[in-house]
Amino acid sequence: MLPAQHCVIGVDIGGTKTAAGIVDGTGTLQAAESRPTPAAAGSAAILATAVGLMESLLVQARTAGLTPLAVGIGAAGVIDARDGSVVSATDSLTGWAGTPLAAHLGRVAGLPAFAVNDVHAHNLGEQWQGASTGAQSSLLVAVGTGVGGSLILDGTPHLGARAVAGHVGHLASPYAYDDGGRALPCSCGRAGHLEAIASGPSIALLYRRLAGDSGSGNGATAAGALEPVSGREVAVRAAAGEPVALRALTLGATAAGQAVGGLANMLDPAVVVIGGGVSAAGALWWTPFLAALRAELMDPLAGLPVLPAVLGSSAAVVGAAKYAFDRITVPEETRV
Ligand SMILES: [Zn+2]
Repeated sequence: MLPAQHCVIGVDIGGTKTAAGIVDGTGTLQAAESRPTPAAAGSAAILATAVGLMESLLVQARTAGLTPLAVGIGAAGVIDARDGSVVSATDSLTGWAGTPLAAHLGRVAGLPAFAVNDVHAHNLGEQWQGASTGAQSSLLVAVGTGVGGSLILDGTPHLGARAVAGHVGHLASPYAYDDGGRALPCSCGRAGHLEAIASGPSIALLYRRLAGDSGSGNGATAAGALEPVSGREVAVRAAAGEPVALRALTLGATAAGQAVGGLANMLDPAVVVIGGGVSAAGALWWTPFLAALRAELMDPLAGLPVLPAVLGSSAAVVGAAKYAFDRITVPEETRV
């Protein structure tokens, strides 16, 4: 009789969605479920959603003859790698700071549990099963509702002395200023940062500002441009040829490209991987992004691969599981 196959339950807690999956030792996602994150309802409700998904997948794993060894968690916020607690978080998850994340899920599951920031988990997933497989080092930048980053060196995410490493969105950007020279406010409480110009919500705000500026003038503004729109809607309008939308998307992409190019000069990663919902806008975003990035690169970096993330929404679940697999002893007879 073959020994039972081992697995880890990966959990991904984001500001919009919480997902969990069964990940075996080969990195294959065997099953997955997701639910909306009750982001405004507080830490206990967010934890309860994660626990519900985790328990469902523990049952499914055991029913399928798998033996769960641990729980790996990727979560929004600054996560203390020593105990898997939430050090700090933005307002996107109400009451999230101070949550004993890994301790709670581990206690409920009766298994070892490990937590890491969700962008590091995304990067670990891409390096295990996705765009950067086999790379000695990889810089992942996720451009979406926020702008996050992660550097993996020799298979290990660089977490920093205070678990803050990777906050690409809070680099200063010369693009994060309005026409009057005022720095744009950032989600971190400061101003003039990359996230304030390159994130999806920031591109949407920029679009409204540009539309307002041009709306009273030559009549080039599309009807309804001053209504609140999402970053995704701006991308749709840019694809339809609306000049103001195209300008907003291009400015956001250019700001992101310049920052990532500078990071590549600093870090010299083997590969750069780009994810997040804004990068899914296609060539209208990628073309100015890559042009700005390449313009920054020092000569020896000319051949730097810059690749789109490929795992999609499962990346952080798979990467969170990898983070846990790397921290437990897998029984010898089933190690893969
Ligand atoms: Zn900031």
